[in-house]
Amino acid sequence: MRIDEMTSEDFREAVIKGATVILPLGATEAHGPHLPLGTDTFQPEYVAERVAEMNDNVLVAPVMPYGQHSSMRNVAGTIGISFDTLRAFVTDVLNYLIADGIRRIVIISGHAGTSHMCAITEACRAVVGRRDVRIAFFSDYDIASEMTNVENDGHGGLVETSRILDIRPDLVRGARPVGTYKSHGHLVLRDGSVCFPEGMAGDTRDSTPEFGKEINDYVVRAVSEIIREDLS
Ligand SMILES: [Zn+2]
Repeated sequence: MRIDEMTSEDFREAVIKGATVILPLGATEAHGPHLPLGTDTFQPEYVAERVAEMNDNVLVAPVMPYGQHSSMRNVAGTIGISFDTLRAFVTDVLNYLIADGIRRIVIISGHAGTSHMCAITEACRAVVGRRDVRIAFFSDYDIASEMTNVENDGHGGLVETSRILDIRPDLVRGARPVGTYKSHGHLVLRDGSVCFPEGMAGDTRDSTPEFGKEINDYVVRAVSEIIREDLS
């Protein structure tokens, strides 16, 4: 159930019954010529809602549509927040949920940038260090990549294109680009988008909604398992 569709009383009853809350963290980020800016928001939100439908007393907190960006920072349409803002945001929401009586929390991030993931991990660690609460944190992108194991697939690639074809086919444009990640070694870059000359990485020509559904179903099952096993 979505928390924003519940009343205060509904929420209180769910807490008494030991509710688990999923906090989906999205991003507004350029994803190549074919995918919408909300790609990293739609994926974790979809997974969270499916998991909540399939499992007892799992609530979905409103999705956060902004993340911290490096490579796509300067690309048109990317709207990000700083490391410190993201860490503070996650800390504040966790503290509110805990003050409300929630003791089991799952954070699913659609964006998987290194600093972005670090900011969220830092927030989770600090909260877990002070409060009696179980928090699981991961990127659904990482779970999907592990399952599919497609070589050289990455940002806006085959996996993400297929997943969005399943979740929001209306938003996928006609292009099916092929892009390669171009390493710049250890150089600290002023504009990280030079690593993505095509704006994405991977070969999307074989992307299909069927493959996307297979991946999304797998991620939903994996998250359900994390709730049952890691959080209990
Ligand atoms: Zn993405």
